[in-house]
Amino acid sequence: MVRIKRERWQNEFSEWYNELIEAAEIQDKRYPVKGMNIWMPYGLKIMRNIEAFIHKEMERTGHNEVLFPALIPETEFQKEADHIAGFEGEVYWITHAGVNPLDVRLLLRPTSETAMYSMFSLWIRNHADLPFKVYQIVNVYRYETKHTRPLIRVREISRFFESHTAHKDFDDAERQIREDLEIFDRLAKFLALPYIVSKRPDWDKFPGAFYSLGAEVMMPDGRTLQIGTMHNYKQNFARAYNIKYETETGDHEYAHQTTFGMSERLLAAVMAVHGDDSGLVLPPTIAAIQVVIVPIPKKDSPYDVVAYARGIMEELRNAGIRVYLDDREEIRPGRKFYEWELKGVPVRIEVGPRDVESGEAVIARRDLLEKESVSREEVVERVKKTMDSIMENLYTRAKEFLESHIKPVETLEDAKRVFEDRKGIVEIPWCGEESCGLEMEEILDAKMLGIPYPEEAAKIEGKKCPHCGREAKFIARFARTY
Ligand SMILES: [Zn+2]
Repeated sequence: MVRIKRERWQNEFSEWYNELIEAAEIQDKRYPVKGMNIWMPYGLKIMRNIEAFIHKEMERTGHNEVLFPALIPETEFQKEADHIAGFEGEVYWITHAGVNPLDVRLLLRPTSETAMYSMFSLWIRNHADLPFKVYQIVNVYRYETKHTRPLIRVREISRFFESHTAHKDFDDAERQIREDLEIFDRLAKFLALPYIVSKRPDWDKFPGAFYSLGAEVMMPDGRTLQIGTMHNYKQNFARAYNIKYETETGDHEYAHQTTFGMSERLLAAVMAVHGDDSGLVLPPTIAAIQVVIVPIPKKDSPYDVVAYARGIMEELRNAGIRVYLDDREEIRPGRKFYEWELKGVPVRIEVGPRDVESGEAVIARRDLLEKESVSREEVVERVKKTMDSIMENLYTRAKEFLESHIKPVETLEDAKRVFEDRKGIVEIPWCGEESCGLEMEEILDAKMLGIPYPEEAAKIEGKKCPHCGREAKFIARFARTY
């Protein structure tokens, strides 16, 4: 009795996603500025649950929350050369106040390095101030020229998470990157999202970074989506913004810096990775409604199904579960089932007169579309167990999907064949030369995600770069990306 279908989800993913974002009331795309969308209450509740987890993790790891202004003076923005080169094509400028031109033009932050770091140079004075760890969740603006897509490629990233840290030396900055990876791993488990981490090639690192790491998930159509990045800046920004501290011996040193970034793409990944042809499938950890109760009244029945359902609702609520009783009289139960399945509510409870009579309830789980009858006393316990089981099943199913879409190849012909099916990531031995990497990107019409992180040296022994024939130094991952 398996009803789960994932045909549209896989074969018409783009249409599926675009329809669902509005049908499930995540966002409304009709706002009259391209690439800027409206968060609907249902979608925003889910996003807030993701953010609540991030705030807790930041607290746990000693990061303090700050809020910087959205406007940056041109004079601050211009201090780090690579950074300007990387972002100047996509910033929004504010040039006038009323009818008068501004003395110093202002830009809407595309990210906050250049807003924060002149302040860091005032705040960080002494080795005792380090490590210095702050973060914020704000909106940032980037004039995207590529095709926009809600939550994925937008001109206002409205839930942009960025943590910024400063350290006494390179080793402590590296420790921070490991902590970021650990936080990211806990978040990914919370979202039931399996992922891979790659060290970006030099030509694709964050503008101004020493190196960049990117975390990707596998989308239904075999393209990857970057949902997290970690950057070690070394002293690049500290030199440009004069962030210096006094060491224990009285010398003055530039601080080492890192950043860690994420956004509402996390929700896009959840929608894409776990969904099916019936709609969203939300992990219970972030679902706005974890359990919906649908009473199924019958005319002339002596049993009050709504009162019975209300009793179950109160018990679940007291157990700390986010529950909603759908007792709308004008809508048929079948229609309600359809609607809550579309919106991805993890667990549905149905009660009809016969359940009241026998002291039972029907529990339906969204991920497998399976039902079971349980006794009234067992409901709370069964709901909790079902939610745990959903988390596990979502993670396992997604992990199998990801792993089956990573293909090691040794020739460019084999790599091309993988992409002809539009399926996944290829891992190719690579000599490490930039020119070879860029040419392979061209030939494969794919992006180099980078090399597996942490590096797996064993895989390359005796292998040759298929483009130039030289000894391979790395395994390079290529994919079509969002
Ligand atoms: Zn090569």
